[in-house]
Amino acid sequence: MVNQSIRVEESQSRKNKPDSSELVFGRSFTDHMFVMDYSSGLGWHNPSIIPYQNLSIDPAAMIFHYGQSVFEGLKAFRTQDGDIQLFRPEKNLQRLNHSNERLVIPPIDEEFGLEAIKQLVELDKEWVPDAEGTSLYIRPFIISNEPYLGVAPSGHYKFIIIMSPVGSYYKEGINPVKIAVENKYVRAVKGGTGEAKTGGNYASSLKAQEIVEKEGYSQVLWLDGLEKKYIEEVGSMNVFFKINGEVVTPALNGSILAGITRDSVLELLRHWDISVTERRVSMQELYEAHQDGTLEEAFGSGTAAVISPIGELYWDGNHLNINEGKTGELSKKIYDTITGIQYGKIKDPFNWVV
Ligand code: PMP
Repeated sequence: MVNQSIRVEESQSRKNKPDSSELVFGRSFTDHMFVMDYSSGLGWHNPSIIPYQNLSIDPAAMIFHYGQSVFEGLKAFRTQDGDIQLFRPEKNLQRLNHSNERLVIPPIDEEFGLEAIKQLVELDKEWVPDAEGTSLYIRPFIISNEPYLGVAPSGHYKFIIIMSPVGSYYKEGINPVKIAVENKYVRAVKGGTGEAKTGGNYASSLKAQEIVEKEGYSQVLWLDGLEKKYIEEVGSMNVFFKINGEVVTPALNGSILAGITRDSVLELLRHWDISVTERRVSMQELYEAHQDGTLEEAFGSGTAAVISPIGELYWDGNHLNINEGKTGELSKKIYDTITGIQYGKIKDPFNWVV
């Protein structure tokens, strides 16, 4: 493994930073990027921070053909007193290695990966915006770049970290969304790659997303790939329901991505002594809870929105209106607490921020 310091080549020309009020997700990038190479003989080597730039890649590079790649997404936040905090970054590096394992990509040293993120953020710290709700999105990813057309694990990889300032997800306050339950397409199956964060999962989700968007829904609710009965995730978020005072979320079953926000919500609820269970949740159960008035709240959880309340679920011709289409009390409380910790407004009893 790498036992070397990161070479730094600073950019000679700094870019103009977008105005905080005009930030859109993932469109502008900071002045620098981190890169590190892997080859079978040398292992991971040559870690460098260099000016943000294009890559030069052989068209036969395996990433273009068989999609062997993984990625992560996390954020850096600016606190009121100007410090910069990362939210549970070690979890993202753990998950990156979990994805690596599934995609037959050699593991990275997690501590070194975290060091690379910290150094890159430090160098580009002026890019961490300070307006309410804004942050710096960090995208570590690994691509296979051996030029070879055989279907096999690549012998060469590139680990890259790029960063992008992002605006507030909720410009007008936390807002419930309309979700359509997907009955035709599936996101993942047990034994597949659903619990890895790999590009192919996102490519295969686009079709269903395109269809429901045209019908006025913001995302799809994915059901299990075998029976299409059990709830898995909502778009690119994990999902929670409050039924008759109890919180339930689908158990990690091998096809669901283990969200870091999901894990934080579970920890928070247990800390508050609110009953929460990870188990199978069927759409039929949810429908019945809605019919008898016990489906109190539903929300998605993920790095982008933190908490995204669900105001309506469309399933098989039924429009299930949840909490009168309004943000539930618990959803709001979780949102306020996690974002409060992220921005250093409230104490972090869990050691989440670094
Ligand atoms: N599920 C999927 C499919 C995702 O892409 C994401 C976003 N990473 C999540 C769940 C939520 O994960 P996290 O809370 O770590 O952002």
